[in-house]
Amino acid sequence: MGEVVFWTIIRTAIVLPLLWVLKSYLNVDLWWTVSIISVYGVIIHPAVIHYRLFNEKNEEIIEDTLCSTCEHFDKTAVLCLKHDEHPTRDYLPCDGIDWSPKSSDKSQNVFDE
Ligand code: SF4
Repeated sequence: MGEVVFWTIIRTAIVLPLLWVLKSYLNVDLWWTVSIISVYGVIIHPAVIHYRLFNEKNEEIIEDTLCSTCEHFDKTAVLCLKHDEHPTRDYLPCDGIDWSPKSSDKSQNVFDE
């Protein structure tokens, strides 16, 4: 996820100064049109595509592993916060030893009992 944010910031840092420079060469109506198309086409749309690819690539890990039910798992970064490592479908950084249910799972267990 950090990669998505990083490249969005980089694209923004490139596009906005270019648009600022273009402002003195184009009339206002054309500049607004170019700005809106540029911001959407170069900043927003690639970020959305990149985010979708990230979710597709990590969908199984986020939804269908032991880590996905653990309180130490940060699904936005697909990261084990306790071990500071990225779990995969075949690799659990703690081998399941440090697994702890999410607090929402804990409260659900209380009602189940
Ligand atoms: S503590 Fe273990 S189960 Fe929990 S997120 Fe980290 S590797 Fe996964």
